[in-house]
Amino acid sequence: MNVRSLPDRKPFLTAALALVALAGLAAAAISAEPRAKELFGARKLPAVAPAQSFGFYSKGCFTGGVALPMDGPTWEVMRPSRNRRWGHPAMIALIEKLSRDAQADGWPGLLVGDVSQPRGGPMMTGHASHQIGLDADIWLTPMPKRPLTMAQRETMSATLMVNEKTHLVKDALWTPAHTRLLKRAASYPEVERILVNPGIKKKLCDTVTGDRSWLRKVRPFWGHDYHFHMRIGCQPGSPGCKGQEATPADDGCGKPLAWWFTEEPWRPNKNPDAPKARDLMTMANLPKQCQDVLDAPDAPSLEAVTYHGGSAAAVAVAEPEPSEPAETISSGNAAMPAAASAFAPTPKIGIPLPRPRPGN
Ligand SMILES: [Zn+2]
Repeated sequence: MNVRSLPDRKPFLTAALALVALAGLAAAAISAEPRAKELFGARKLPAVAPAQSFGFYSKGCFTGGVALPMDGPTWEVMRPSRNRRWGHPAMIALIEKLSRDAQADGWPGLLVGDVSQPRGGPMMTGHASHQIGLDADIWLTPMPKRPLTMAQRETMSATLMVNEKTHLVKDALWTPAHTRLLKRAASYPEVERILVNPGIKKKLCDTVTGDRSWLRKVRPFWGHDYHFHMRIGCQPGSPGCKGQEATPADDGCGKPLAWWFTEEPWRPNKNPDAPKARDLMTMANLPKQCQDVLDAPDAPSLEAVTYHGGSAAAVAVAEPEPSEPAETISSGNAAMPAAASAFAPTPKIGIPLPRPRPGN
């Protein structure tokens, strides 16, 4: 190295460094717009307000969320560290009802997957939908006899019900109780759609006798081979909730289902690394009310917003009484965010997420 050349290089180096710094600043300015998924993913408690959904299932948020208790006599929440057991009170009430009805039908109890984040919105991982508190994933694995520990709920594997090559249901695993569970879920008037793997839809199409009217609600979709997805319609008190087109009146077992058993839907994604909508969305992409939802004060405690079958403080939160000041909503406990330590960061491995189209 020629020492003499150093002084000569310095101005150039300084200028180069300044340029790099400028470029860095510009990049920072561009990326300074926070992603909505980061903002919503950071909220640990719901916004205290009457229950209301804003926007669409895949582009929205909600207030007045309540938590499904971690355990009930007929359900267990899976992957609790994700903190996605929040929903519109109507959704949480329906999950509990399904768990009881399913048990009466001979299903031991529900393993409940993701519902929504406390205030909905896009998520850091997984789902495109589940944003307005009206979607829930239920495992197709029955609740085991012995209660699962919290650790088991994080790590227990789900059962894949479908052969990934043939896209047909694994006959050794499918039982009439699975069919009864889906029929029960589809039977509720508020349920508009149930998403299942095409193989599961085909199994129902091929085997359901008698009343087949409920098959209309069961829709084939990628993934959904270890769980089904239950979607309810926009609830009263949510004028800003955007509903989905009604499903066709027929059982959906004809041509549209046949398409799933062609090569086309399973072609690898041409652009697997392209960012997904949820990775790009900023607050500007969401309904404008979602900024207020994000800014609203936290519920006073986790307990205050945990749903207890219609008898707890959670219901006071859910009542559509817009004039009620947030301060009057309190739990029986001290109004401290006792739950703060209850939320561990989401582990990065070992969590089955809904698998989208192959190649994604
Ligand atoms: Zn889902």
